Amino acid sequence: MSCGDPHETECGEVLDHLYEFLDNEMPEGDCVKLRVHFDECSPCFEKYGLEQAIKALIKRSCGCDDTPTDLRAKVLARIDSIRTQRSGEVDTSVIEVSSVSVEVTVDGTAGHGSAVATAE
Ligand SMILES: [Zn+2]
Ligand SMILES: [Zn+2]
Repeated sequence: MSCGDPHETECGEVLDHLYEFLDNEMPEGDCVKLRVHFDECSPCFEKYGLEQAIKALIKRSCGCDDTPTDLRAKVLARIDSIRTQRSGEVDTSVIEVSSVSVEVTVDGTAGHGSAVATAE
């Protein structure tokens, strides 16, 4: 995935380290590189925003730090459907997902996180 613009840090490199960044496991110098990149690169920033929203949602819903892969997939599917519904009205590239509504079931613990995806 790339926006087509040249960046000092490659999109692929940024996305490879996205989870480390979200988990605050990156050296400060690399964090700066990623932040600069998110400023310049909307596809990566969008992906980052999504992952951050998912992480926060799951943490709030079930109190766990790890995002189970199937749960992430579920949330992403939900976001996709929101986008599809809205695609006739707005430029989907500017949809900002502040949060999503999804049933969360992790390790037998059911929680419910809810909110909306907003389009500016
Ligand atoms: Zn990028
Ligand atoms: Zn880019």
